[in-house]
Amino acid sequence: MTGPKPLLGGVELGGTKCICFIGTSPDDIREQVSVPTGGEPQTTLRCIVGQLNVWQSVHGRIAALGIASFGPVDLATRSSTYGFITSTSKPGWRFVDVAGHLARAFDVPTGFDTDVNGAAVAEGRWGAARELSDFAYLTVGTGVGVGLVVNGGLVYGFSHPELGHVRVARMAGDDWPGACALHRDCVEGLASGTAIAARAGIPAEHVPAESPVWQPVAHALAQLLHTIVLATAPRRIILGGGVTQSRPELLARVRTLLLQSLNGYLALEEIAGPMEQYIVPPGLGSRAGPLGALALAADAHRSVSPAPAY
Ligand code: ZN
Repeated sequence: MTGPKPLLGGVELGGTKCICFIGTSPDDIREQVSVPTGGEPQTTLRCIVGQLNVWQSVHGRIAALGIASFGPVDLATRSSTYGFITSTSKPGWRFVDVAGHLARAFDVPTGFDTDVNGAAVAEGRWGAARELSDFAYLTVGTGVGVGLVVNGGLVYGFSHPELGHVRVARMAGDDWPGACALHRDCVEGLASGTAIAARAGIPAEHVPAESPVWQPVAHALAQLLHTIVLATAPRRIILGGGVTQSRPELLARVRTLLLQSLNGYLALEEIAGPMEQYIVPPGLGSRAGPLGALALAADAHRSVSPAPAY
């Protein structure tokens, strides 16, 4: 027998906006608001704390908090900078103690991870990867990120993986230099919303479906999937993020280009089933990111007290 589910707080800290909410489950989000991620971290964090406190005065205290943040972040719990956003290119946010600031404000168990890892956990729990122990979640938005679940757990080494920055074979005939400040033509430099806007001269969401810009984007993403398929043999790949949500036809191109790139080395359709069920959009849609923060909060709560199943 289980009691009522505890009230949880969630913060999805993105590069341009931050979604804060409280609730007990994906079906019971009681309050939610989006605030801009401004250039002054202290102002943004104060705004988050203030909002959650207003809700606490109405709904009661939260039992745990989850923070799913843009990165890179320090996830090494023994590190002196654990919970910090580290070497980001976002002005003002380098080495900001996000998790510490929010954990001190609420004094509750606090889960902290990257936004893409959070979304992967949420998709595994409630979305397109339920009951799968091996899958990958890709987000293509302002940047490109990957959360990898292998043997039922997220992959970590000295830090979280940064597969958005792998270098890939270029599409034949494409010599556009790329937009990554560090690597130029890594995947993020070729396929992120930032890269698409730089190449097209207009925001990615306004680039028409028939634009030639999408072919090298799909090619770079298929190349990244080629690497992921061979590295961790995921049973499903979820392709989310703002760019793929606004251009769902990208998925079909990526499926075709992945099969071409693998060139029969793996009989992927035999192993993993139809491509339409292998490379899929998030089951949670645009909620995958925020619900990642909810999943992190639930795990933080569960780590300190026996909790009902979420
Ligand atoms: Zn890069």
